[in-house]
Formats: sequence, structure tokens, C-alpha cells
Amino acid sequence: MRIGFIGLGNMGGGMAANQAKAGHEVLAFDLSQAALDRAKAAGCAPAASVADAVRDVDAVITMLPAGPHVRQVYAEQVLPNAPKSALLIDCSTIDVESARAVAEQARGQGFRFADAPVSGGTAAADAGTLAFMVGCDEADFAEVETAIGPMARAVIRAGDHGAGQAAKICNNMVLGVSMIGVCEAIAMAEKLGLDPERFFEIASKSSGQCWSITSYYPWPGPVENAPSNRGYEGGFATAMMLKDLKLAQQAAAAAGAAAPMGAQAEGLFALFDRLGYGSKDFSGILQMLRGRLNEL
Ligand code: NAD
Repeated sequence: MRIGFIGLGNMGGGMAANQAKAGHEVLAFDLSQAALDRAKAAGCAPAASVADAVRDVDAVITMLPAGPHVRQVYAEQVLPNAPKSALLIDCSTIDVESARAVAEQARGQGFRFADAPVSGGTAAADAGTLAFMVGCDEADFAEVETAIGPMARAVIRAGDHGAGQAAKICNNMVLGVSMIGVCEAIAMAEKLGLDPERFFEIASKSSGQCWSITSYYPWPGPVENAPSNRGYEGGFATAMMLKDLKLAQQAAAAAGAAAPMGAQAEGLFALFDRLGYGSKDFSGILQMLRGRLNEL
């Protein structure tokens, strides 16, 4: 396959490299020269512009920061230059409304389009083990799945256009809310004289059990590879969680859905971010709730 890959940042760099590793011809473009150099070293062919990267390809994959970038790159560069036969796949995390608007514009011009945001961070992007949630026409899914294959450990069709983004923000809203609940419980356990490590043993086998406990415990010790064991570095940045919670609130307001716990979580992560911890893993919010930011 010939693939035009746009956006070679923290996530896109590893994803494009995995497409090249799988034997596809990857025409790569990013505004950053450093990102282009890294893509070249990873076996991609650097292009001089988005137009050059998409002109003669079977598929276009984009991994850009946010909705406005995706709207602009598709309207101004991808749609006017890609062949109509190219399958267009946007893997960025963006608002549902932008995903639907871009899909409508692309389909109006005769293209097939999929929103396919991912779960998993940069380590999964590098390893080719991301989970993709796809919004597309049912008839296009098999081809989308094949194109995504080298970057994925799971590809699930969520529904029609926009459903991939809806799945992503609903999932991350659960994660944001559950992490704060777990952190509050740990901070309270400590004040009540209950050892947080003992609390892990109990809660991980009781009805409070959830991913934020068993796979990502925010107190150092019980979960070996959790960011709490490395000073809350790496992992899923607070600023990224905040972005997703904002998208969730935007979507809830637009759809008339009540999401009060999501709003609370957004406010708390916004505070943690404003205090200067936006680049720390989101589970570090435990230290804010313990009143121990000095330990971060
Ligand atoms: P990033 O900022 O590292 O990468 C984005 C890249 O897009 C940058 O290299 C930038 O130069 C490039 N870019 C911006 N505008 C462009 C344009 N007009 N043309 C070409 N290139 C352009 O961000 P990232 O961490 O790679 O995240 C990308 C997307 O993936 C975001 O939507 C993010 O929310 C989502 N995501 C990130 C993670 C994560 O852990 N980093 C996890 C899941 C999803």
C-alpha cells in the first residue's frame, strides 16, 4: 500500500514507523523538520507538503493535535489533492462535531472517511499495540481495519461517522472520574489510618475494583509499571486528560446529556494543570488531593 501519513508527533511518529516496518510505502509530512527527520530514519519517505504526501496514495492517515487542525488539513490540503479512491482515516482525538463535519465534507466529494481515535499512549504507538475505535460506513470497515492493522492490537467499529470519537471521550470520562474517586479514597484511607497498600489488596478484590486500581494504582508500590512508581513521569499527561474531559463536556452539552461527574473531574484536572503539573501523569492528582504537591 502507499500511505500518506500526516502528523508525526509523539504518537504519529511511531505509528508511521510501524506502517513502514510492515512494508508499506509511507509518504510522511509534518510541519516540524525534526519529526520529518525521525520519520526518514524510521523508513518513511519525507514529503515536502501535505499535497505531495497524499497525491498518489491508497490511504491517508492523519494524527494531528485537535479539531481545528484536522478541519483545516482536510479542507485545504487533503481533499483537493488526494485521489478520490483514497481511504481517509483520521486517528486524532477531536470533538465529535468536527469529526462529523470532516466526514460529511469528504463524503460529499466522493471520498470514504473514518474517524479512528486510539487508546494507549506513546509506548503502544511505538509497539504497534494501540486500540482503535472506528466510526465509518459498515461497508468500509474491513478496509479500514486492514489499513490500521500494523499499528493495532484491537480495531473495533463503534458505529457511523463520529462514533469513534464518541467512544473515545466516553471511555476517557470514565477513566478521569474513576481515577479521582480512587485518589480520594486513598487520601481518606491514609487519614483514617488504613495503609494504602493494604487498601489496594482489599479494593482490587472488592466492589470498588476498577482499572484505575488494578492496572494504574496511583500510590507507589502495588502496580509495578504504574507511573506512581516513577514519579508520575510518562504515562498519560494531565493536559491530555484535561483535553479529553473538555471534549466530553462539549459533547454532553451539545447532546443534552447530563455529565456532572465528568464536569467535576474536568475542574479538578484543570486545577492540577494550572498549578503547573500538566505534563505529569494524570494519576499524580493523588498528591493534590492529599495536600502533598511538594512530593511531586
Ligand atoms: P503531538 O503534538 O506530539 O503531534 C502532533 C503533530 O502534528 C506535531 O508533530 C505537529 O507538528 C503536527 N502538525 C500540526 N499541524 C500540522 C499540519 N497542519 N500539517 C502537518 N503536521 C501538523 O501530539 P500527539 O501526542 O502525537 O497526539 C496526536 C493526537 O493523538 C492528539 O489528538 C492526541 O489527543 C491524541 N492522543 C495522544 C495520546 C498520547 O499519549 N500522546 C494518546 C491517545 C491519543
